[in-house]
Order: sequence, then C-alpha cells, then structure tokens
Amino acid sequence: MKYDYLIVGAGLFGAVFAYEMKQKGRTCCVIDRRDHIAGNIYTKKQSGIDVHVYGPHIFHTSKKEIWDYVNRFAEFNNFINMPVASYKDELYNLPFNMNTFSRMWNIKTPREAQDIIASQIADLNITEPKNLEEQALSLVGRDVYEKLIKGYTEKQWGRKCTELPAFIIKRLPLRFTYNNNYFNDRYQGIPMGGYTQIVEKMLEGIDTYTGEDYLDIRDRITTEGEGNYNTTLKNGTAISYDKLLFTGQIDEYYDAKLGNLEYRSVRFETEELPMENYQGSAIVNYTEAEVPYTRCIEHKHFDFGTQPTTVISREYSSEWKPGVEPYYPVNNEKNNSLYEEYKKLADAEENVIFGGRLGHYKYYDMDKVIEAALECVKEER
Ligand code: UDP
Repeated sequence: MKYDYLIVGAGLFGAVFAYEMKQKGRTCCVIDRRDHIAGNIYTKKQSGIDVHVYGPHIFHTSKKEIWDYVNRFAEFNNFINMPVASYKDELYNLPFNMNTFSRMWNIKTPREAQDIIASQIADLNITEPKNLEEQALSLVGRDVYEKLIKGYTEKQWGRKCTELPAFIIKRLPLRFTYNNNYFNDRYQGIPMGGYTQIVEKMLEGIDTYTGEDYLDIRDRITTEGEGNYNTTLKNGTAISYDKLLFTGQIDEYYDAKLGNLEYRSVRFETEELPMENYQGSAIVNYTEAEVPYTRCIEHKHFDFGTQPTTVISREYSSEWKPGVEPYYPVNNEKNNSLYEEYKKLADAEENVIFGGRLGHYKYYDMDKVIEAALECVKEER
C-alpha cells in the first residue's frame, strides 16, 4: 500500500494528525510498537471499571475549541479532580488552598493564611527562583513545602528539588479560597467509557498496525519504489510512504548519537479489592519520602462507579531505561539543551516530522498535545 504518511505511535498526537490528514484527503498508515492503540491514555475495562493503565488522565483545558474538538470523539462526565494528599497521619486537600491551610495551621481566614505564608517567605530572600525548591518556598512557605511538596517531588523525579526546574510546580494552582479543584481550566472531565474510544474513533478507516516497531522496520527501508520510502512491516505487509511522523523518543530516533535524554518512568502495582470503596478519592498522593509510591489511584471514582469491587493502582516512579515505557521528559537545563541539538537535526529533515511528549521532549498535557498536533497539521501543505 502507498501512503502519504507513515505515523509512528498511535497515541493522541499521532491519532489527531492521522484523523485531520484523512479529512484533507491524505492517506496515513499508523504503527505502534505496543500491542494496543492510544499510547499512554489507553484505558481498559476490568470488572466494569475503566482502568487508566498508564496512570491517571484527567482532561482539562481552558480553550473552548479544544474542548469541543475532543467532545466529538466521546461524551465527557463532570468529574472534577480533587486529589487528597496524605502526609504521615495527616490528610490535606490539594491543590494548596484554604482547606489545606486551615488544616495545616488551624486557621479560618485568607488573611491569616497569607500572613503565615508571608512570614515564612520573608527571610528567604528569594527574588528570582532558580529551581523548584526556591519556587515552591517563595510561593507557599516552608510548612507546605516540607509536608506536601518536597517528598512527593523528589520521589516523582528522583532528583533533589534544588536540581529541578521551577516551572514544574507552577502547574499547581495556589488559592486563598476554599476550592479543591486541582485545575484552573474552564473545561474538565473524563470520557465516559474510557479514553481508548477517542483514539479508536480518530483512527477509524485508517490502516493501523500494533506490535510494529519502527526502529526494526527501518532497517528494511529502501528508496526504490512508489513512495519516497518503502519497507515491510513485521506482519509482512509492504508499505510505501512519502513522509514520516515520529512520536517516539527523539533521541532514540537518532540512536542517541548526541547523548541520551533523560525520562522518568512509572510502574503500577494494580489490584482488585473485594470492596466497594477503598480510599474515597480517585487520587491520593503520598507526600512523605518514607512511602515508596507516589500516589494511589482508585479508578472507579473517575466515573463515579458503583461496582461491587474496586481496582486500585499504586504508582512507583523510576528513572527511564531501555525496555520500560518513558512517561515524563526531565526538562532541566542539561536535557533541554541536548534536546535543542536534536531539534536542529530534526529541523533539517525534509521528510520527517516529530511530535508529542516524546518527539517534542515536552511535559505536555492532553489538551496541549491536541493543540500541537493541530498546529502541526496546519504546517503541512
Ligand atoms: N506536586 C507536589 N505535591 C503533590 C502533587 C504535585 O509537590 O502532592 C508537584 C510535583 O513536583 C509534581 C508537580 O507538582 O511534579 C506537578 O504535579 P501534577 O499533578 O501536575 O503531575 P502529573 O499529574 O503530570 O504527574
């Protein structure tokens, strides 16, 4: 078969790109090395519950056009993310808001909370926060930092807060109202029936092959044939295409010839428990260093499930190494400047486009992935 595009990676970026290209009359072939589509937003039913197999995904956006776009592919419920933080024997609401401060300092009013935080910030002398620790301390003061940020962040990233970029913590709102909504965005929800259907619908009518690793098939690429590139999939299908969209790790594409970019991976210990409700919240973060996992997910609460049993996943964070799934780019200075070098190679490619969290080496949320993919489509003539 001859295609305009070979798309490597059946995640959200690849699927939006393929869907849009199909509307424009272009042909795409999508391959993915895993045995399923949807990348890390993949969800799978277990005892009637949609399990977020690669970690909790809550769709949120401030842009109406992105919300309308994603709603074309699934109906969303009215889930609002209100995670709880567990620090030793204390429970706190997230994000940092009046409920958190009231529990922390036994106070009631915004003025009291602001005064305490101001007094904790006063003698720090931080003008321009250089790293995550300084950013966090100068936003919320020492108590919140020590109890709710330091341990969690160092577990999640496997690095000291002084060695992490400040922007990571800016993702989290800080408010002086009694509002536990984790996000500030106007639109939020979970697709009823899970995320996989979204990618399924986007890929409807598009040739999609799972269990196909581009890095294996590229050894067989030749330039003799119908398209610019010709090769055979592992399943024997001969394909030819003019252009490649690669949504895997950009450094892996270049055989790490300039050095390895760092990523974080996560591992889940998932179990089904014979009870209706285990923790009363979709997400509980364990913010002290002593608990080995970062958070515990109770999947049914993403969709207000009433099943007789429950499925929970404890999330353990680790450094990425070959053979495990990459989840998060580690966007510190060292990696960002190495990425810039790879990007120069990428920009010089005539027939290769990179996309997604791994291809752009960027800590994208789902809405930003969709935006980036739509942008990328616009740039294709
Ligand atoms: N964070 C924290 N304590 C928490 C939750 C988050 O310190 O209980 C910090 C941590 O540094 C984390 C960042 O906030 O990396 C962003 O968290 P978010 O929940 O956005 O991460 P994600 O859901 O993408 O893993």
